Amino acid sequence: MLVTVCSAIASIWDRPLAGFAIASTAYIAWCFFQLNRIMFWLGASPDVEPPEAGGLWGIIFDGIYHLQRHDREEKDRLQATIQYLQDSFSSLPDAVVMIDKRGNIVWCNKFSESLLGLYYPQDKNQYIGNLVRDPKFTDYFEKEIFDQHLELTSPNNPYITLQVQVTFFGKRDKLVFARDITTMMQLECMRRDFIANVSHELRTPLTVIRGYLETFQDFLVSDDERWLSALNQMIEQSHRMDALVRDLMVLSRLETVPESEEPALINVKNITDTICNELSAAGIDARQLINECPDDACLMGNPEEIHSAFSNLLTNAVRYTDGDGLIRVSWSEKNKISRYSVRDNGIGIDFQHIPRLTERFYRVEKSRSVNAGGTGLGLAIVKHILIRHNASLKIESLPGHGSTFTCEFPQSAGLDD
Ligand code: ADP
Repeated sequence: MLVTVCSAIASIWDRPLAGFAIASTAYIAWCFFQLNRIMFWLGASPDVEPPEAGGLWGIIFDGIYHLQRHDREEKDRLQATIQYLQDSFSSLPDAVVMIDKRGNIVWCNKFSESLLGLYYPQDKNQYIGNLVRDPKFTDYFEKEIFDQHLELTSPNNPYITLQVQVTFFGKRDKLVFARDITTMMQLECMRRDFIANVSHELRTPLTVIRGYLETFQDFLVSDDERWLSALNQMIEQSHRMDALVRDLMVLSRLETVPESEEPALINVKNITDTICNELSAAGIDARQLINECPDDACLMGNPEEIHSAFSNLLTNAVRYTDGDGLIRVSWSEKNKISRYSVRDNGIGIDFQHIPRLTERFYRVEKSRSVNAGGTGLGLAIVKHILIRHNASLKIESLPGHGSTFTCEFPQSAGLDD
C-alpha cells in the first residue's frame, strides 16, 4: 500500500522508480523496528505485556504472547505434578531415591537419610555406589537384574535390615525403594527358632513314650481287645508324631543352616535305586517303581538333601497310587535344564490344589494322607531343598489319571556337557 502510494506520487514528478525505492526502504526499516521491539520484549521478564502494534505485526505479537502463556501454564502444571509426586514419595515410610541412567542421584526423600544415609540436596548428582558403599548393593545395582529384591544392613545403622528393590522408569532411570524389615526378620527368626526348639525338645519325651509303649506291647498278657486296640493306636500315633517332629526338624535345618560350600557329584540312577530299596525295606510295595534314569545321569548337589527330596517324591507317588499302579522315574537334559521326573498313574490332583501343594500342612485329602503316614510337610521339604540347589518343582496332574512331579535343575547344577 505504502509502496503503491509513494510510487503514484513519484510518478507525478516523473520518477516512479525512485519513489518505489524510497517506499521499500521505509517499509524494511519499519519491519526492522518491529523485529527489534519483539527482541526486546522476548528478552524482558515473561510478565511484561507485548508491545502495542496494529495490522500483521499486532497479530504476530498476540500469537507469540498466547503461545508463551500456554507454555508457562503447562510448565506450572508439570511442576505442580512433580511436586505432588515428590510430596507423596516423601510421605512414604520407606526410602525412595530417583537415579538417572548414569547412576547419579536426582532426588531422594527424607527417609533416605535414616535408612540409606543419603541427604538431599547435598547428595544430588552423586553416584549412589559411592554413598551406599556395601559391596552387596554395588553388585546388585551394577548387574541391573532387579527381578528379586536385596536384603541389606542399613549403612546408617547396623541394627536395621533393609529390603531394597530397584525398578526402571523413563529412559533407563531407576527408582530405588528401601524398606525397614527389621521387625519382620526378627519375627521370622523367632518363628524359626521356636519350631526348631519345640521339635528338638519334643524328641526326647516322645522317644521315652514310644519305648515304654513298645515294651507294654511286648509284655501285655491281657486278651482284652480294648487294651490291645488302645495300645496299638497309641503306638501308631507316637510314630506319626515322631515322623512329624523329624520332618519339622529337617525343615528348620534347611531354613537355618547355610548351603554347603562344596556340592558333590550325585549319580541319579544309584540314588533312585537306593530309595527304592529303602521303600521295600520299610515294607512299602516298590515293585511298581521303574527306574528309567540312564546309568551316567549325574548332578552336583548335597547328597543328603537330594536323597531326601527324591525320597519324598517317590514316597508320595507310592502313597497316592494303588497297588497295581505304575511309577516311572526318568531323567532328561534339554536346553541347559536337567529334569528328574516322578510320574505315577495314581489318584491325581485337581488343578486348583496344585499351587498350594508345597505349603506346610496343605493336603488335598487329609484322611488319606494321615492314614498313609503323611505329615503334610513332604513337598515343603522338597521345595526348600530345590531352592537351595537353584532348582524348582513343576507339578502336572489330572484327577483319576495320575501326577508328574519334575525337579528342574539348571545345567550348572548338573554336569557340564
Ligand atoms: P503328605 O505327607 O500329606 O503326603 P506332602 O507335602 O508330601 O504331604 O504332599 C501334600 C499333598 O499333596 C498330599 O497330602 C497329597 O494330597 C498331595 N500329593 C502329593 N503327591 C501326590 C501324588 N503323587 N499324587 C496325588 N497327590 C499327591
